Amino acid sequence: MSALGSPERRELPLLGEVLVVCTHPDDESFGLGAVIALVTRGSRVRVLCLTHGEASTLGNNSRSLGQVRAEEITAAADVLGVEDVKLFSYPEGHLPDVPLDELGDLLDTGVGAAEALLVFDEGGVSGHPDHRLVASTRSRRR
Ligand SMILES: [Zn+2]
Repeated sequence: MSALGSPERRELPLLGEVLVVCTHPDDESFGLGAVIALVTRGSRVRVLCLTHGEASTLGNNSRSLGQVRAEEITAAADVLGVEDVKLFSYPEGHLPDVPLDELGDLLDTGVGAAEALLVFDEGGVSGHPDHRLVASTRSRRR
């Protein structure tokens, strides 16, 4: 017996399909990347990202930041084993202005055949208002 109790190894159930919902390109990596890479092995993983992250003040690129971040989420998806990325063009920083039913309908449609939904907790990890809104959208519509 190990110091942690039973030597029995516990495995998470294999999920057929998982939908990751995030607000900005990079959320899938910094906030949820480890879960995507480790917990969803063997699952079909899709990412639905609501903005291009064009309002970030990080970096100093001559190209459109939204375009750069679109390329980055595609590259991250390849590394994480994500099969599909849907990147929407809602304006970063203004998601609270989008009608809740519109976002809820988008998420309901995006769920499709997913058996699990992977989002930030309701604190939004960093407290960013867009993160918090997306994390709570489905529960707020019920
Ligand atoms: Zn973010």
